[in-house]
Amino acid sequence: MAPNPAPHHVLQPLADGVRAALARPDGFAICNSGLVDLGGAPLVFDTGMIPEVGRALRSVTEAEFGRGPALVANSHWHMDHSLGNQGLPGLPIWGTRRTREILLEQRTAMEADLERQGLERSVRELEARRGGSGSEGAARDLEFLIQIHRALLAAAEPIVPTPPDRTFESRVDLPGSRAAELRSFGAGHTEADAVLWLCDERILFAGDLVVVGAQGSLGSGDPIHWLAVLDEIERLAPEQIVPGHGPVTGPAGIAETRDYLVGILAAAEAAPTAALPAALRRWEGSLSLEENLTFARQWLGSRRGTART
Ligand SMILES: [Zn+2]
Repeated sequence: MAPNPAPHHVLQPLADGVRAALARPDGFAICNSGLVDLGGAPLVFDTGMIPEVGRALRSVTEAEFGRGPALVANSHWHMDHSLGNQGLPGLPIWGTRRTREILLEQRTAMEADLERQGLERSVRELEARRGGSGSEGAARDLEFLIQIHRALLAAAEPIVPTPPDRTFESRVDLPGSRAAELRSFGAGHTEADAVLWLCDERILFAGDLVVVGAQGSLGSGDPIHWLAVLDEIERLAPEQIVPGHGPVTGPAGIAETRDYLVGILAAAEAAPTAALPAALRRWEGSLSLEENLTFARQWLGSRRGTART
């Protein structure tokens, strides 16, 4: 039997020369990627969790466009979107200036997180939680967290975080005959997320600023400004949106992410015993919800503290 040409992704054509590479739940990509032929120079947007995924994206790009990638871009520094960079050596990597800085600052901490014994222990702890009480969403969230650890344990070589070497602040036009730009609207999911915007096709690769059927993590960014960033994204009037996680969506994906954030902020302000807002109930009992609520309570508390002084 011929090997699966895309072991970590399901490819979805969005337009001529534009593909969503959606993470397979049984693969090690973890995040969605984008493949865009900029006009003889293919771009890979987000590179997945491990170097192997970067190499797979090169093969898929060659198969789809008849030539390998010429450049790479990262939506943000999180490991599942950037560690695949290592598998695409020799290519220029675009990202926001702050994404580069954070990846450099976090290198040592990340390398500690990638330590094998720690990962094996974490997988055992997560697996021991299987079958516990909680919603269907909680079970799905748990499997996602387990798969993240499995991906890191499956890496064939030591992982070295590889930051972008071409940076921008708010906007850069990418080279090539297709209108393609990277935009950043400031802090949201992280301190400076980037999106890839194809204005002629009205296609947006949103990174984790938009997630569908999943929970974005709040802990690296600014959940209130994230809402303003979603307004900016909505003003672009995208018709197709590739979220960082989940299926291809449209404006409904922005609304889903907004409802989740508003729900978290409301729950963080409410008494811990209060019922969860409707937008959060599907995730009741999940580890990511607990983490996001803990972060939001601390974050809102520190903002109130700052406002007083
Ligand atoms: Zn992320």
